[in-house]
Amino acid sequence: MAQPLFGQPRAVVEAALPRREPVDCPICGVPPVPFAIDYQGFRLARCSRCGLELHSPRPPADDLARALYTDEYHRAHEATVSPVQRAMFGRQLDRLERLTGHRGDLLDVGCGAGAFLRFASERGWRVFGMDIVLSPLAAGSATGLWRGPLESIDFGDRKFAAVRFNQVLEHTPDPLVQLRRARELLDEGGVLLVAVPNLAGVSARIKSWQSRLGLKRHRWRHYAAVHHLWFFTPRTLARLMVVAGFGVTLRETPMPAPRGRFATAVTMYRRLLESWGLGSLLDIYAKAVPAP
Ligand SMILES: [Zn+2]
Repeated sequence: MAQPLFGQPRAVVEAALPRREPVDCPICGVPPVPFAIDYQGFRLARCSRCGLELHSPRPPADDLARALYTDEYHRAHEATVSPVQRAMFGRQLDRLERLTGHRGDLLDVGCGAGAFLRFASERGWRVFGMDIVLSPLAAGSATGLWRGPLESIDFGDRKFAAVRFNQVLEHTPDPLVQLRRARELLDEGGVLLVAVPNLAGVSARIKSWQSRLGLKRHRWRHYAAVHHLWFFTPRTLARLMVVAGFGVTLRETPMPAPRGRFATAVTMYRRLLESWGLGSLLDIYAKAVPAP
């Protein structure tokens, strides 16, 4: 099995991914301004108009797919649900059930090994999944499974009550294309959930300052720029969703539930950060706005 590129020395990464191409801000259509180079040589940039941060110039999408998203990308342990995931999945389904008003058809974009599909299916949702690397581990987890990028899959006239992107949108070459396709796939009153790492979370902010000040050996490692092409805050992700034709209904910055001896004290700290929008993850729920 090939070694994952994340964490490898710069020379290894540059040998595997030698090409770079510039990328414009998908919201504003302008070239971003560079602000850092990470420990693997990847370039981080920020749109001076809307503040969206992105990986640019970056390896072309085909090169990334070949180097990263191979048939071994999804590992066996991803097929089972850990206690931390159980809490996060449950939280997301609670919100989707409240916002849609029922347990209908749900499409999990980037379904991986199918852990979420099985979890949602047990709660009474009729589940469908797709992924650019469709793991054999996902077999049997859903009513329908497709392989390919979302924009290339023919779903016929099927529509969904919920479409979920969990830690997926930041990997895609063009997130606006993804969200516009999701909008077409939602039925009336359907809900989109986009969950990404929260770049405005307290943990990411601390690591960014450490990177700026040269206090980290692996500078900007928390951006995970080999896999992540976009780095969202609550403000920039909401802006992108609005541009794609959605109205935001709920915005949360959850943190994984703590376990162990100090769980009670950590839970209080976690709740405080979540209430201030400083949690490590970002979940935004939205509904399509009717076209004018
Ligand atoms: Zn912009």
